[in-house]
Amino acid sequence: MLTLSSPIEQIIRIGAATAKKLQRLEIKTVKDLLEYYPFRYADYSRTVPIANLTAGTTVNVQGAIDFIQNKRSFRQRMIITEALVNDNSGQLKVVWFNQPFIGKNLKAGDGVSLAGTIQDGLLGLEMVAPEYERIGSSQLTHTTGLVPMYHLTANLTNKQLRFLIKSIIGTASQGEDILPEAIKRKYQLLDLTKALANIHFPQSPEMLTRARRRLQFEELFLVQLQAQLQKLEVRSKKAEAIKFFKEETSKFVQNLPFKLTAAQKKAAWEIIKDIGQDKPMARLLEGDVGSGKTVAAAVIMLNVALNKKQSAMLVPTEILAKQHYDTLCALFQDSGVKVGLYTRSQKKINEGRGTQDEGRGERTTSHGSLFILHDSDVVVGTHALIQEEVEFRDLALAVIDEQHRFGVEQRQALRKKSGPPSSQTDLDCGEASQQNLAPHLLSMTATPIPRSLAQVIYGDLDLSIINELPAGRKKIGTWLVPEFKRQGAYDFIKREILTGRQAFVICPLISPSDKLGVKSVTEEYKKLNEHIFPEFKIAYLHGRMKAGEKDKIMQEFLADKIKMLVATSVVEVGVDVPNASVMMIEGAERFGLAQLHQFRGRVGRSTHQSYCLLFTESLNEQTRERLNIFTKSNDGFKLAEADLKRRGPGEVYGTVQKGFPEFKIAALNDYQLIKETKAAAEQIVNEGVEKHPKLREKIGEAKEYVAG
Ligand code: ADP
Ligand code: MG
Repeated sequence: MLTLSSPIEQIIRIGAATAKKLQRLEIKTVKDLLEYYPFRYADYSRTVPIANLTAGTTVNVQGAIDFIQNKRSFRQRMIITEALVNDNSGQLKVVWFNQPFIGKNLKAGDGVSLAGTIQDGLLGLEMVAPEYERIGSSQLTHTTGLVPMYHLTANLTNKQLRFLIKSIIGTASQGEDILPEAIKRKYQLLDLTKALANIHFPQSPEMLTRARRRLQFEELFLVQLQAQLQKLEVRSKKAEAIKFFKEETSKFVQNLPFKLTAAQKKAAWEIIKDIGQDKPMARLLEGDVGSGKTVAAAVIMLNVALNKKQSAMLVPTEILAKQHYDTLCALFQDSGVKVGLYTRSQKKINEGRGTQDEGRGERTTSHGSLFILHDSDVVVGTHALIQEEVEFRDLALAVIDEQHRFGVEQRQALRKKSGPPSSQTDLDCGEASQQNLAPHLLSMTATPIPRSLAQVIYGDLDLSIINELPAGRKKIGTWLVPEFKRQGAYDFIKREILTGRQAFVICPLISPSDKLGVKSVTEEYKKLNEHIFPEFKIAYLHGRMKAGEKDKIMQEFLADKIKMLVATSVVEVGVDVPNASVMMIEGAERFGLAQLHQFRGRVGRSTHQSYCLLFTESLNEQTRERLNIFTKSNDGFKLAEADLKRRGPGEVYGTVQKGFPEFKIAALNDYQLIKETKAAAEQIVNEGVEKHPKLREKIGEAKEYVAG
């Protein structure tokens, strides 16, 4: 007997070739096939007598074949199948092209069911290339009712998929319905068997709606349940309660070269309150590029240091690590906070209150890395920080900058680096013991995600938002520049550089590729350096260069020794060069709006008027429209919304967000459903998930969904 876990080869009448093709779609078992949901339905639910047909309508016609023949077209080498179908109310002409087997399969006298659009032909109404199937012993599958359409790849046809899925649809009843009865009743959800049957072969439009809702509900519900359990688990641990040092904090804030924005203060205050408790904070700080998240985090880390505890800041690139290190050293200059840098190639510590000399009291250590981890109040680092052997003296706060660049495991690895190593010895405590402390977690991101959506993706995190840019920032002038104005753009950049500014040029690739025909860093660098701007110092930067080299170039760019930097998307995140005023982007169509917005955020970081110039060789209208939207708005949240309207959240955030949950069917813009599933998950958590063993088990499987 066929079960859900049977390999698809065991389905009767599946050929070896078809099985192979399915496997290429990751469909290996009967269950996989059952969960290969249609992406749309053709509506053939109107069966119309031939006498009543009108042009332009999409219908089902059922009748008998009066006549059928294959013939070769006169000029083209094409085979045309012509048929006349009669349903006693009238006769309809039907034509197919280049499908000679139809003329052989169907014979005069056969009953056929046809589906398609009625057209006005030369000699009256006709159907061109309709879907067809013989009326016979088996149920009609392809031509009447709501007919499922599947995403087709690997040379499969809709007919094949419908046939196979119909033949196994009975196994749906073996599926374990994990939704608790009470939840199903409360939200009027179909049971699983019915939902699966109707998602593939809907009895009616109403049943299709209900089936879809049921399956979407389950996916969203599981993710939310998972997140809430995660949150509960984190909250059940103990953390160091960080005392707020009011005076020192206001002194620090007053000494800043600028005034904190109201939004920065509000976010910092939310965080301070949260870490003041003896439960681990788990919070996401969302703020548009340039909104000043780093300083907000510094305020927090200062307080942790004053509590004699450590903070670790995890960042995605060496460039960013070095930059944050420098920023923090400067910010903490008078506070006596020791800052450490910990990456694969650079390990050093700034012991604060330094002299004004080059080294600022820095000590670089080759194998004294233990010393850095032990002595620093704040350690900034890359992935090197989360390696197993890394141990801190007393880690109370884990900050993850550009958190969307990290996967779940990496974020969790940092969280696991708890307090004093001594705590690792007590394994057997039932109650959370005093020593077994978890660090507070502060995740930071510039990816603007609407609150309701964040609930799904980061359901286990509390949210703080910096929704305001520092005063004095000018709107970045953004243009989509037509190719014929390229020289004009170069002239413009030249003038900017001559007034003292600097420029970025972003290219999609490192080196030229014939296949893609897209601008590359090496090519553009050569052109700009030798021909367009021979008088300026230009450098290039990309991910394949050594860390030391990259760092040197970033330092020179920051020090204004380099006027123009030609780079790949390595400069996408976080890089802060306030003097840069031009961001030129080649092959702009290759980047999503969120990513373009990140690039643009590299300029306009001071009071200089800044510009973003987009170039594209794409003539695709949708692409141009998308880029035009981008030129009109400087607001990351608005852009994300615009993008969300055009594409799904998976597409908008999937490329920029590691670990974005993949849904088979749930649409993340159904906020009503998100709300309901959240409430349902809360209900189950309150009741205790142990009361629902099937759910418990399922959640174990779905671990990888946690965004933590
Ligand atoms: P992001 O939120 O993108 O990480 P940063 O923290 O890098 O932004 O800050 C961007 C720039 O704005 C930095 O040069 C920083 O010194 C500056 N900045 C931060 N807060 C303020 C403020 N309140 N007023 C003026 N400039 C600020
Ligand atoms: Mg930043």
